[in-house]
Amino acid sequence: MTDRIKEFLASNREDGPRLVVDLDVVRDNYLGFAKALPDTRVFYAVKANPAPEILNLLAGLGSCFDAASIAEIELALAAGATSDRVSFGNTIKKEKDIARAHALGVRLFAVDCEAEVEKVARAAPGAKVFCRILCDGAGAEWPLSRKFGCAPAMAARVLERAHALGLVAHGLSFHVGSQQRNPRMWDRALKASAAIFRELAERGIQLQMLNLGGGFPTRYLKSVPPVRAYGQTIFRALRRLFGNRIPETIIEPGRGMVGNAGVIEAEVVLISRKSDEDRLRWVYLDIGKFNGLAETMDEMIRYPIRTEFDDDALAPCVLAGPSCDSVDVLYEKEPYLLPVSLEIGAKVLIEGTGAYTTTYSSVGFNGFAPLKAYVI
Ligand SMILES: *Cc1c(COP(=O)(O)O)cnc(C)c1O
Repeated sequence: MTDRIKEFLASNREDGPRLVVDLDVVRDNYLGFAKALPDTRVFYAVKANPAPEILNLLAGLGSCFDAASIAEIELALAAGATSDRVSFGNTIKKEKDIARAHALGVRLFAVDCEAEVEKVARAAPGAKVFCRILCDGAGAEWPLSRKFGCAPAMAARVLERAHALGLVAHGLSFHVGSQQRNPRMWDRALKASAAIFRELAERGIQLQMLNLGGGFPTRYLKSVPPVRAYGQTIFRALRRLFGNRIPETIIEPGRGMVGNAGVIEAEVVLISRKSDEDRLRWVYLDIGKFNGLAETMDEMIRYPIRTEFDDDALAPCVLAGPSCDSVDVLYEKEPYLLPVSLEIGAKVLIEGTGAYTTTYSSVGFNGFAPLKAYVI
């Protein structure tokens, strides 16, 4: 919670939940990545928060952009990034979107199978492709499962196919899972990557680039290692595995770039109990899973919540959103501690909400407006 956000909230009172993002924090985060990984280019994962002010700032600082759709590519270009600073990082693309991206000047595409390579070869002839390999996501609070990437044993074949079809077999990528609190989790993926680099070199294909993905955490309730620990651990592994022939590297931070830059102000709509014996209070906010807090799904992300009663005694609550859908409960399996003196109508501040909130907000489920956002 920065002074700038505090002042903004105090001087612009308003009803309804709203996100406020402080650009100074985004700038610090960008510079932190640049310092922790000085030889690595940063491709901001646009989906984490595509607010034009954020993209403009990052474009001005020299960031590149990882886009998942034509709309995201257009946002990055509108922010002032040239097309050589934009990658189409989604492994699942319509061929007509690949062609459109190519027409916009994008030359860097993610693939994870031969069918996608064939689409890129047809729609973006001569482009660079990198193959995403599977990562198990262990240790991540928001793991990415098996949806993206192929087994390391298959990646060489995918890239050989790209080479045969006239594309540039440019490199590899992986994602260790979002909110990855263990820097050592890059080791295994880097080891698998180094083996594929060697295998392809033996077959006459020199890969150039290693995309280290996102996964860099932001601070929620639990502490996380500083970004410099990630930089050191990753660099040591690169040195160990590639010696003095470390490839060009890129990272794609989303959460780690904007998560801690945002605070949501919300309001307590109701506090109740389900029976006279009920130990737990139910606290209902005017924000829930459908208007910004989708990442509370399975209670994976636990946001810090501040109230003006924080010096008082705390007691466990079930925390829920305002909509008429029973899945709109934020924390119940592990109840949330809130002050016993919390009142209906009180404002609460939900910290660490700069990433994956506005973009996950529905257009108007139950008539609740999408999450409002201010970038200051
Ligand atoms: C979402 C995404 C990211 C960002 O991940 P974070 O964990 O938020 O840093 C990076 N790369 C790709 C390909 C993604 O889909």
